[in-house]
Amino acid sequence: MSQRPGTSEAPLRVCTVGSGPSAFYAAEALLKAEGLDVRIDVFDRLPTPFGLVRGGVAPDHQKIKSVSKVYEKTAEDPRFRFFGNVRIGRDLAIADLERSYHMIVWAIGCESDNRLSIPGEELAGVHSATEFVGWYNGHPDYRDRAFNLETARRVAIVGNGNVAMDCSRILLAPVTALATTDIADHAIAALRQSTVRELVLLGRRGPAQAAFSPKEIEEIAELDDVDVAVAEQDAALDDYSRNWLESQARSAQRNVKFLAERAAHGTTGKLKQLHCRFLVAPVAFEGHDGRVRAVRVQHAVLEPDRDGTPRPRAIDRYSTIEVELVFKAIGYRGVPLQGLAFDDNKGIVANVDGRVLSAASGEARIGHYVVGWAKRGPTGLVGTNSPDSKATVLCMLQDLRQDRTLPASGQDLAAVLQQRKVDYVTWQDWRRLDSHEQAVGQARGKVRHKEPSVDGLMQAVRSLRG
Ligand code: NAP
Repeated sequence: MSQRPGTSEAPLRVCTVGSGPSAFYAAEALLKAEGLDVRIDVFDRLPTPFGLVRGGVAPDHQKIKSVSKVYEKTAEDPRFRFFGNVRIGRDLAIADLERSYHMIVWAIGCESDNRLSIPGEELAGVHSATEFVGWYNGHPDYRDRAFNLETARRVAIVGNGNVAMDCSRILLAPVTALATTDIADHAIAALRQSTVRELVLLGRRGPAQAAFSPKEIEEIAELDDVDVAVAEQDAALDDYSRNWLESQARSAQRNVKFLAERAAHGTTGKLKQLHCRFLVAPVAFEGHDGRVRAVRVQHAVLEPDRDGTPRPRAIDRYSTIEVELVFKAIGYRGVPLQGLAFDDNKGIVANVDGRVLSAASGEARIGHYVVGWAKRGPTGLVGTNSPDSKATVLCMLQDLRQDRTLPASGQDLAAVLQQRKVDYVTWQDWRRLDSHEQAVGQARGKVRHKEPSVDGLMQAVRSLRG
C-alpha cells in the first residue's frame, strides 16, 4: 500500500481553483498545518490574483484591498505556486487536476447575479450591479460595458446591501477623489461626464431589515454635496419590527437610528441625493424605444415567516418612479461548472461543510472541496472567508487521516501547460506586473493603473519578463 501523502518523501499535493480571499485563506491554513508537508498550486482564469479583492472591493476602499499583503505572505512560501491565465475547462480538465492532486479546492466564488424575473428586465439601461462593479474595477469581463451616465439623472438601485452602497458611493462621490484610486480609466472618464443627481434605493423590507452596514450608509452621508434623504413614512417602524429589532445585532439598531435621524433632519438642498425607500419591490421596468424610463414598484407590509424572520407581503398599492438607469444589487449567484455538482436552489457548488458532493451518488466526492462564496453563498465580508476556509481545511485533514484522497500520479501540471502552449502567469510574473501597475498609476497620480483586458495584461506580463 502506498504511503499516506503529507510527508517530505510524499508531500500532499493540493490545488485551488480561484485565487480570491477564500483560496488564500485555505492555502494559508494548509501551509500552517502542523506536521504536514504540502505543496499548493493556485489556478486563476485571469492573469491576476486576489479575486474580489481586486475586482469587487470598491476602489475607494483601499484599506480593505490592502488585505492582499496577507495573501502575498502566503504566496512567498516556496511550497506555493501561482498559475494565472489558466482556465479549468479550457486549458486543463478536471480530470487533469484529479490526476495531479490529492485534493482540489474549488474557490470559484459566485460569478453571476440573481435575476428579478419581471417584465422589462431586458430593457437597455437595466444592469446588474455585478456588471457595474466589475466595470469600475477594471475586471476584464466587464470592460466593454457602457452605462448611460452621461444622460441619466435619476437612477434606481434595487436592493440595499453593501454592494448597493458601493455602487451608490461610486455614482455620488466626487470624481477627483475617485480618480486617485485604482478605478479603471474608462470608468473615471465616464463618471466625469456623469449627469446622475438622484439615486433611489429600493428596499423590499423595512428600515430595520436594511442590509447595508451602518458605516457604509454613514460614509455616503459624509460625502460632500450628498443628502441622504429618508421620508418620515419610510423611516417609521411597524410594531412587529420594533419588537424584532430588540433581538437583532447592534448594526440593525444603528441603521434604524441613522435613518430616523435623516428623516427628522430633512434634505438641505445638496447637489446630489440618495433616497432610501423601504417596503417597495419592483414589479416591472417600463421603457420607451427599448430603453428603461421607469420602475413600477409594489408596496408591501412585513409579516413574520415560520422562524419569525420579517418577510415582505405585497399589498394592492403601486407607484411608478421615473428613472433613466437601473442597477440590480440583489445578490450574486454561482455559475454551474461542467463536471461539478451544483445546488441550483442556493446557486452554489453542492457541498456539505465544504465537502463537494458527487452529482451521481449525492455522497461526498473524494478529493473535492469548496470554500468561500461557492461554498456558503454570497454573504459575509472578506474576513469571513478566513474561518470558513479553515473549517474546510479541517475536513480535508480529517479525510487525509482516513486516506480519503485522490491517488495523484505526481504529474506536474506546469509541464502539461507548457506542452499545451498555455502562457501561464507565475507569482514572479505577477510581482513584476504588480510593481508595474503601481508605478504607472503613481506616474498618473493614482494608486495603480489596471490594464483592463486579458490581452493587455498578458502583453505587459510578457514585456516585463524581459
Ligand atoms: P446582500 O447583503 O445580501 O443584499 C442584497 C439586497 O438585495 C438585500 O437588500 C435584499 O433584500 C435585496 N434583494 C434580494 N432579492 C431581492 C429581490 N428579488 N427583490 C428586491 N430586493 C431583493 O448582498 P450584496 O449587497 O450583494 O453583498 C454580498 C455580500 O458582500 C454581503 O455580505 C455584503 O456585506 C458583502 N459586501 C461588503 C462590502 C463592504 O464591507 N464594504 C461591500 C460589498 C459587499 P432582503 O434583505 O429582503 O433579502
